[in-house]
Amino acid sequence: MELRGKTAVITGAGKGIGKALALALAKEGANLGLISRTAADLEALKAAITEAHDVKVSIAIADISVREEAERAVAAIQNDLGTFDVLINNAGVATFGTLVDMDPEEWKRHIDINLFGAYYVTHAALPAMIEKKAGNIINVSSTAGERGFATGSAYCASKFALMGMTEALFQEVRKFNIRVVALTPSTVNTPLAVNAGLPIGDEDRMMQPEDVAELALTALKLPDRVVIKTAGIWTTNPQ
Ligand code: NAP
Repeated sequence: MELRGKTAVITGAGKGIGKALALALAKEGANLGLISRTAADLEALKAAITEAHDVKVSIAIADISVREEAERAVAAIQNDLGTFDVLINNAGVATFGTLVDMDPEEWKRHIDINLFGAYYVTHAALPAMIEKKAGNIINVSSTAGERGFATGSAYCASKFALMGMTEALFQEVRKFNIRVVALTPSTVNTPLAVNAGLPIGDEDRMMQPEDVAELALTALKLPDRVVIKTAGIWTTNPQ
């Protein structure tokens, strides 16, 4: 896929992996729709991108776990940039604690953002992609979407569910020339990992957000009929 001039929309674009994805896609010449809750992050990123690259950037401040906000963000970006060619459902949260100890509202927040957020954005964006009979959707899951671990019940449940949505949707929309894949990185050196107290270890050996962005770009550049079932990415540090 040639990305120049295409419209790529990234949720959770203000920090970490989403920000790296935005910078990598801007370098390829894609016009960008950026969504997150913190306006200052997106405004700074837009300024940096438009100074360095001749691309259009549309920002939408939204909490994607709130259906109306997700729909408003999608409509605003579609209005600015047109139908999405690429949608990257990347926004996510992670905190860890045993099922008994974690507050039920905190447990639910993982499902609300990591699953319903991706669902609401996709639900709003997909009809136009189907009509266009083209598009790529990348859902950023995690190794936690493939294997459970103690203290991860909320995060794992949200990411397993995202994997299920990915596989089902892939089968629904392939006939419309839309590819749906999930990425399943292990620990990546981002604010999420630092705040969650994940062992980010030696920076030289650690997976960086730019590495995940490279993998996403590689997936996007594959011919449309080629699907990496799940693109597992591993850190070089032993886990
Ligand atoms: P991060 O550094 O915390 O960045 C997450 C981004 O998502 C931020 O821009 C955040 O901005 C946004 N966001 C969070 N909740 C949102 C909401 N309700 N509505 C809109 N935007 C929201 O996290 P990251 O490490 O880059 O994670 C990105 C994705 O990769 C997540 O899905 C995560 O589960 C996955 N992942 C991460 C790792 C890792 O080790 N870092 C490993 C595997 C998978 P605001 O707070 O301003 O909204």
